[in-house]
Formats: sequence, structure tokens, C-alpha cells
Amino acid sequence: MISIQDKHNCCGCSSCAERCPKQCITMYEDEEGFKYPYVNLNTCINCGICENVCPVLNQAEVRKPIACYAAKNPDEKVRMNSSSGGIFFPIASKIIKEGGVVFGARYNNQWEVEHASADTIESIKRFLGSKYVQSSIGATYQQAEQILKEGRKVLFSGTPCQIAGLKRFLRNEYDNLITVDVVCHGVPSPKVWRDYVSLLPMKGVYDIRMKDKSSGWRQYSFSLIGEDGKTILSEFSSENKYLMAFSHNLTLRPSCFNCPAKAGKSGSDITLGDYWGIEKLLPGMDDNKGTSFVCANTCKGAELLKSLALQIESADYDASTPYNSCIYQSTTEPVERIDFWNFYQKRGVYAILVLQPIKQNIFNRIKIRLKRLIK
Ligand SMILES: Cc1cc2nc3c(=O)[nH]c(=O)nc-3n(C[C@H](O)[C@H](O)[C@H](O)COP(=O)(O)OP(=O)(O)OC[C@H]3O[C@@H](n4cnc5c(N)ncnc54)[C@H](O)[C@@H]3O)c2cc1C
Ligand code: SF4
Ligand code: SF4
Ligand code: SF4
Repeated sequence: MISIQDKHNCCGCSSCAERCPKQCITMYEDEEGFKYPYVNLNTCINCGICENVCPVLNQAEVRKPIACYAAKNPDEKVRMNSSSGGIFFPIASKIIKEGGVVFGARYNNQWEVEHASADTIESIKRFLGSKYVQSSIGATYQQAEQILKEGRKVLFSGTPCQIAGLKRFLRNEYDNLITVDVVCHGVPSPKVWRDYVSLLPMKGVYDIRMKDKSSGWRQYSFSLIGEDGKTILSEFSSENKYLMAFSHNLTLRPSCFNCPAKAGKSGSDITLGDYWGIEKLLPGMDDNKGTSFVCANTCKGAELLKSLALQIESADYDASTPYNSCIYQSTTEPVERIDFWNFYQKRGVYAILVLQPIKQNIFNRIKIRLKRLIK
């Protein structure tokens, strides 16, 4: 029976709760706002299935991709609405056109982030863009399994640990399943996100872009977008308090400092990330609007990528990873994290509002502000 002694050893994927034959596991939020499994000992039959489907207790081997690419979606609109090179959208569109179902992370009506399914091109648009919050998996593993058994194609996308959790949950290999994970820095607390949203002027907001690239991919912004597409509020990532807490690693889930699924361990077919360092490695592919680092981890993933109309060039894994350590190693747990959470329990979201901005080169700040004014 699953029993969490150390929170660094549970990524909250929900695989155990979704698979328990007696439905005796409930995922509860702790004081930091992350969900963990709790077993009802009165109904547990000690069958051990929950331990068997846990991706932390059953970690796969580290794996290198079979091929890597620098890639951009030639459709500028899609690329600008995505966080990196806009590669997820054509992958998902292909599955939809083949009659399949796509699973990904989107905002719900309360602006919480949750996993959901989509079977139209219009509905996959809600999955576009990184939401820097842990998404709730809900019953999506079970839904995906049902669709796979019906013989329809399924594309399941998410963080590496969500893909590792799905794979353990399914227990069988399915030819009609394709999995895509993102290079993952870590996921912030849904509670901090809820508290932060409650402070924002949300009237008339149609979309929240946590990685708005209008002022550049490298110096992205946190933006609230109105129904007419106009920006209601925008702050540079280096000045936005929510993103500062994220990048200082204060609000990340404990398991993100001990990740069970990076470095190819998730078992995904394709991995998508930002191609940091592109200006040095393949400068012709860099326009500061977003270039993706794409890994084909399996033959299935490589075949799918080949079928897409992308601007693409081969890349070298070993030369590229030093620019993006999140591909293969966990983020370091900051010593300030304990103090931060003690303060958060007392003062709530005020704990992130008092964070000091990251000091920036004055020349860069002026350049970015001028660019924005001209725009
Ligand atoms: C929490 C998080 C941390 C990341 N950290 C890094 C990093 O350190 N380095 C790096 O190179 N890249 C990182 N990325 C990935 C990167 O930002 C892009 O998401 C990725 O390159 C895909 O880009 P795209 O332009 O092809 O598609 P996009 O449209 O930007 O991506 C859409 C995909 O992201 C998924 N997604 C969005 N939010 C979430 C979420 N909260 N949980 C699970 N899945 C989500 C959607 O389901 C969909 O599959 C991170 C993404 C997330 C969500
Ligand atoms: S041991 Fe079996 S019954 Fe008990 S919680 Fe785990 S899966 Fe459920
Ligand atoms: S990592 Fe997933 S399967 Fe393992 S205990 Fe946590 S929620 Fe359950
Ligand atoms: S860093 Fe690892 S544990 Fe944390 S969300 Fe990403 S994949 Fe999961």
C-alpha cells in the first residue's frame, strides 16, 4: 500500500488513486497546495497495485533520444501563441485529423490548470502555451485508457512525470498511443496560483499568457489578454512576482528537486523544450520568437515528426543540453524554501509580493522598454 514518508518521493501524478481497484485512495491538497494520496485503511485489501503503478517507485532507465532537432512552426500566429517553436500544435492537429483524441493542460472556468481531452482543432488551442502551475490529472488516465481500448488514436501530453505516471497506469503498450512531454523546470503550487489570480484584475480576461513572447522569447512577459486580443496587463517575467517565485524555485513541488522522470525516463515518444543556446549553435534558426528543442525518443515519435511541415534542422544532444540543464537534471532546492513557506502560512500570497526583482542589466531594460514603446 502506498504511503508517503517523504514528499520528495511523490510527484502527484494520481496513477495510484486512479488504478486502485477498491477506490480507497483520495488525492488531498497539503498546506502548500500540492496533492498527495491518502489511503482509506478500512477498505484497502493490500493488493499492492498502487505501488506497482507508481512512477517514483518504478523508475525507468535514463535514455538518450534517437534524434534531436531545432524546429519552428512556419505558421507565425501559432508560434506566437505557443511558448517555444509552436511544435505541439501541428502534432496535436495531425492526431485530430486522424480521428484521435488529444489530452493536455488548459485553464478551467476558475483559471485553475487541469488536464482535459479535446477532439477538435478549435479545442486543442486551449492547450497551447505553458501554464506554470501543476495541472490536475483528474480522471484523464482512465479516459485515455478507455479511448485506447476503443482503438482510437490518443495523444497524451504533459510533464515527464505525468507521462511516466500514465505509462505505469496503463501497464500495456498501445500502438495507438503517442506521448509528448515538455522539458520541465518544475511545477508551482496550485494554491499559490489560486491566491495570485484572486489579486489580478480578471474582469474581461479571455486568456492568461504566462509566456507572452510579444516582447521577445528570451525576455517574455506575463500577460492578461482580453476577448478582443488586446493586452489588459503585462509584466516582464523578471518583474512579475508569480514568475519570480517560480524561477527562484520557491513555489515548486518537492518532487521537482528529486525528479523521477527527466532525462528520457518518462518513456515519452517526443520531448519538446526551448532551444536555449540556439543563437550560438544554429544562429540561422534564431529570430527571438521561439525555437523548439525537439527530441524524437522512439521510432514512433520520429515518424510522426517527419510527417509534419516544419522548419527543421538536425541538432546535437550533447552540445545542446549544457544550455538547458532541466532536460536531464533536477532543479536545486533553495535553502530559503522553508522560510518562504513558513511566511506563506502566516501571510498568504503577500509572501510572493515582497520578493525583490532579479537585477537586470540596465542597458537591456532600456532596450526592451524602447522596443515595447515602439510596438
Ligand atoms: C511547467 C513547465 C515548465 C517548463 N520548463 C521548461 C524548461 O525549464 N526548459 C525548457 O526548455 N522548456 C520548459 N517547458 C516547456 C516549454 O515551455 C514548452 O512548453 C515546450 O517547449 C512546448 O512548446 P511548443 O511551443 O511546442 O508548444 P506550447 O503550445 O507552448 O505547449 C503546449 C504543451 O504544453 C503542455 N502544458 C502546458 N502547461 C502545462 C502544465 N502546467 N502541465 C503539463 N503540461 C502543460 C500542454 O499540454 C501542451 O502539450 C516547460 C513547460 C511547462 C508546462
Ligand atoms: S493496496 Fe490495493 S486496495 Fe490498497 S490502496 Fe493500494 S491499490 Fe488500493
Ligand atoms: S507518484 Fe503518483 S503513483 Fe506514486 S504515490 Fe504519488 S500520486 Fe501515487
Ligand atoms: S520536475 Fe519532474 S517531478 Fe517536477 S513536475 Fe517536472 S517532471 Fe514532474
